[in-house]
Amino acid sequence: MIYLDHNATSPICPQARKAWLEAHDHLIGNPSSPHRAGARADRALSEARSTLATRLGCDPFDIVWTSGATEANNMALHHLAASAPETEIWISAIEHPAVIEPARHYFGKNCRFLPALASGVVDLAWVADRIKDRRPGLIALLAANNETGVLQPWPELLDLCRTYNIPFLCDATQWIGKLPASGLGRCDWVSGSAHKFGGPKGVGFLKCPGTGKIEPLLLGGGQEEGRRAGTENVAGILAFAAALEARETAIAEGGLAVRTQWRDAFEEQLLTLLPGSSVVGRETSRLWNTVSARMPEADCRHRWVVKLDKLGFAVSTGSACASGREEPSHVMAAMGLTPSESGRVLRFSSGWETTESDWTHLLKALQTVHSQSTRL
Ligand code: PMP
Repeated sequence: MIYLDHNATSPICPQARKAWLEAHDHLIGNPSSPHRAGARADRALSEARSTLATRLGCDPFDIVWTSGATEANNMALHHLAASAPETEIWISAIEHPAVIEPARHYFGKNCRFLPALASGVVDLAWVADRIKDRRPGLIALLAANNETGVLQPWPELLDLCRTYNIPFLCDATQWIGKLPASGLGRCDWVSGSAHKFGGPKGVGFLKCPGTGKIEPLLLGGGQEEGRRAGTENVAGILAFAAALEARETAIAEGGLAVRTQWRDAFEEQLLTLLPGSSVVGRETSRLWNTVSARMPEADCRHRWVVKLDKLGFAVSTGSACASGREEPSHVMAAMGLTPSESGRVLRFSSGWETTESDWTHLLKALQTVHSQSTRL
């Protein structure tokens, strides 16, 4: 099986697996327990917190470990709703549902959506024009979009928020472990998740503002300095830190250039070999691992996914389909694609272990499926 759905989740990397197993074998204590076994687990937790804080560029105290990015985003929005319930918030129209749904839940009609341009980038000029007069209580923009891989101008939007003293939430789930985390710690709130870059599923974090009390989402224990109740997932957190270090090292050693080349070469050949196909967001800066491909009309995308699966490739339609009845992607709609256009989009997302020949094999499989559908 050639796995090309890393934006959904990645398999655990060897470094994270080793850290996870070692923690289960040797760090048996509860970090909140008073004995030495507890203290050892607590020390390991602090080291992992420092590792992440150093990468983000923030104080380790600002990090709260969570079960993933969904919980982290919910926690940030819950805090704001508890401390300023009537405030207006602005979130980009291309956020993940893990931001959109809690934002709507807590803020209702006070949640406004920032438009995106056809390129898939949020419309910064729209924000700059309105921010002075309306001063929202929060602005949220994800660092990189999970469907298209399009990188967002979060540093610029953060600077704008700083000028007007507006808290900024950055969902960096698809950025961390693929691009350097450095600088993200300047954001008031940052969310992330281990399983998108080779850590285990069920571990993430929320970087919180350095000052002020956080209103916890989960009650029932004093863990994480009273900000998130529940025994920490020590092994998962250590594996998170190990995966992060492995990926940051690979980035620093220049691992991105060649992987970007493989992806770009794949796109170029796809466009030539499958007339009528196109790549969403191709003209703009994107994650090195993501291809959001609009396929030729010939076949519906679910059939593409099933046929590719039969040939040994795991790819995705790009947007989650929790209910089984898929709505047109809100990300594609925000970029101006019609429902029938976005209904033709497939997402191929590679990982650190994906090879050049995986991309070449995918191309061949796409040609095979395409020729079968056009022969029908
Ligand atoms: N935000 C983004 C941008 C994501 O891609 C995802 C995962 N698809 C999430 C949040 C949710 O992350 P988790 O699975 O850790 O809850």
